[in-house]
Amino acid sequence: MTGGSVLAVVGGAPVRGDRPWPRWPRAAAGAAHILGEVLESGRWSIASPYDGRQTYEQRFAARFAEYVGVRRCIPTASGTAALMTALEACGIGAGDEVIVPAVSWIASASTVLGVNAVPVFVDVDPDTLCLDPAAAEAAITGATRAIVVVHLYSAVADVEALRAIANRHGVALIEDCAQAHGARFQDRHVGGFGAAGTFSMHHTKLLTSGEGGAVVTSDDALARRVEHLRADGRCRLAVPTAVGAAELVETGELMGSNRCLSEFQSALLTVQLGELDEWNAIRRRNALLLNKLLGELDLFPQATTPGTTQRVYFNYTVGMPPGPLVTAGPLAVADALTAELRFAVRPIYPPLYASQLYDPASRRRFAISEDHLARVSGPGRALPVAEAAVRRTVSLHHAALLGDEEDVRDIAAAFAKVLVHGAELAAR
Ligand SMILES: *Cc1c(COP(=O)(O)O)cnc(C)c1O
Repeated sequence: MTGGSVLAVVGGAPVRGDRPWPRWPRAAAGAAHILGEVLESGRWSIASPYDGRQTYEQRFAARFAEYVGVRRCIPTASGTAALMTALEACGIGAGDEVIVPAVSWIASASTVLGVNAVPVFVDVDPDTLCLDPAAAEAAITGATRAIVVVHLYSAVADVEALRAIANRHGVALIEDCAQAHGARFQDRHVGGFGAAGTFSMHHTKLLTSGEGGAVVTSDDALARRVEHLRADGRCRLAVPTAVGAAELVETGELMGSNRCLSEFQSALLTVQLGELDEWNAIRRRNALLLNKLLGELDLFPQATTPGTTQRVYFNYTVGMPPGPLVTAGPLAVADALTAELRFAVRPIYPPLYASQLYDPASRRRFAISEDHLARVSGPGRALPVAEAAVRRTVSLHHAALLGDEEDVRDIAAAFAKVLVHGAELAAR
């Protein structure tokens, strides 16, 4: 650690020297080779004619289903596409209410709107920042058809309690695991606790092909609906296809749209998946040390629900104690940390209903009726736990945890320095 007594954000020497941070995304061994294979094969899409071989999509899907411990995996073009198809495959549509956590990426809200349903924003647990089961149950009405839970920043939500609530009220539970590849609860991988689980393979995520996603489920009928929904109403049948024939068959069962993952992306994912556990283990080792160092500073690393048997880290998220840093606000603290570390530290997501990304009235497609627009306009009141959490919490991307102990000590030193200067930041 270097760095003097003046905050870097006001021109002092930063804690972090010239040493570069680990880069993300990172290509797994064999990535360039397998991409070349797809290029040469001439089959770049699952919609291309059958060439006598299994598609890369099928290979990835089989491996990922096995990894998650479910019967089926259907890759999709994005995590957003995965959520939209999972919602529709669960029968969610026009006018239905879907419970979503107030603190999440915009996709939690936009996908519900996207199937003409109404997102109902529900408060989060103060320690895990994930959907609060009691608040979710209290928000259930006669129009509720699903609960979409997010394992936020990889902290595992209380899926056991949420599953019991969903069952009790006869609504579907969908697990959004976009930020939690590899996390386990009660020794089972997340994604298998509800009717369906969804993943994103966006470039920031723990498993990535630049863009991409997947729906996982152990319900074969639901999987078949997801297949139709993401391939323009077509489905791969168990009957072997003749070489040169289309592998996707028009069944007439269910209309869809094109949300397919390309063969390049699927091929890349097969090799990236091979490194996921190892890279998660590096992040976990570094996070454990960081938990200890930040705990000594009376900061609060984000908790996970008891029963989590394998923690992973998409973002490393830290709550600040009451005092000058909370007065200074998360943006000022994040900017000060960013200047010390030369690595982006950010506030967490604002409550979705207050996010500038949430504005249904800005799109004609949601103007179905005055009544619909009013229903999708948000809770009409602040959700207190979410709002308080947002005021005291900052977060860093997992790339910062892919290095070594020196990186971790730099992160802790930056927090320590900013804490010392808390009053100064609060007065700015
Ligand atoms: C990234 C993300 C999504 C959407 O995934 P895309 O691949 O970006 O479409 C959905 N939910 C959460 C919680 C995410 O973090």
